[in-house]
Amino acid sequence: MKQFTSIAETVDYLNTERERGLMIGFVPTMGALHDGHLSLIKRSKMENDLTVCSIFVNPAQFNNREDLNKYPRTLVYDAKLLLECGCDVLFAPEASAMYPEGETPDIDVDFGMLDKVMEGKFRPGHFKGVAIIVKKLFDIVNPARAYFGKKDYQQLAIIRHMVKTLHLAPEIVACETVREADGLAMSSRNMRLTISERNLAPKIYEVLSKLKAKTGKSTVGELKEWAVKKIQEYPDLRVEYFEIGDKDTLLPLKNLNRKEQAMAFTAVFLGDVRLIDNIELFL
Ligand code: AMP
Repeated sequence: MKQFTSIAETVDYLNTERERGLMIGFVPTMGALHDGHLSLIKRSKMENDLTVCSIFVNPAQFNNREDLNKYPRTLVYDAKLLLECGCDVLFAPEASAMYPEGETPDIDVDFGMLDKVMEGKFRPGHFKGVAIIVKKLFDIVNPARAYFGKKDYQQLAIIRHMVKTLHLAPEIVACETVREADGLAMSSRNMRLTISERNLAPKIYEVLSKLKAKTGKSTVGELKEWAVKKIQEYPDLRVEYFEIGDKDTLLPLKNLNRKEQAMAFTAVFLGDVRLIDNIELFL
């Protein structure tokens, strides 16, 4: 596996490989890798000739300094996992390279309501930061395909919208959420949970799954109320939002008339760790 920190070296290397006719698959990450990330790498390996993973904890997408400082950083271990998984290139740049001094990072895309609801509402500026870094990474890696997890469903919608609006080349491939045996969605943030928080964390997906089973028998309002109450039966779980929304527009649904569109989304605090998850209600 090639490992680069330099943008110029990465561009040079990948240009040569592309000119040789190789199809590049790309998996952008913030590191602290787990089987969820590795499932994206494996998918890319199946569908492309060369797979690039980036590891960059992007300051621009953290609206909370403490969350940025506490974000786990495990580069040496991550590199080992990527090597074992057969990843071809690891690009792990410094922040100073991605955000040169004097540059005011910006992106000229109107996300409409996509970045105003749910995560966008509670993490102002987050998706702009995500879009800025993914655009920069796409410019460097220039992949044929890029892989994103449905775990971060709203992020996936933002990236798809950006690619469409700016006519970017990469095909965006959505990958299923990988879960622990107890249902908890894998996340780099899980390693910050205390033992008792880790034991409670699977309740989030348990409630989402039970909600799915109840869908069709109750109104949207009743379903949301039930789910919030059910999660907050555990005093250590605090729901920041719980929405039933449209899988394309992400706007809250008032009824379930077009049931194939319905998804439930939630963000839950356990102590100071914030976890998100979602479920397709009728699939
Ligand atoms: P992150 O390092 O958290 O920025 O995630 C990098 C990519 O991995 C994003 O596309 C995430 O949606 C995806 N990802 C994170 N956790 C999971 C998971 N449990 N299952 C599938 N994909 C995931």
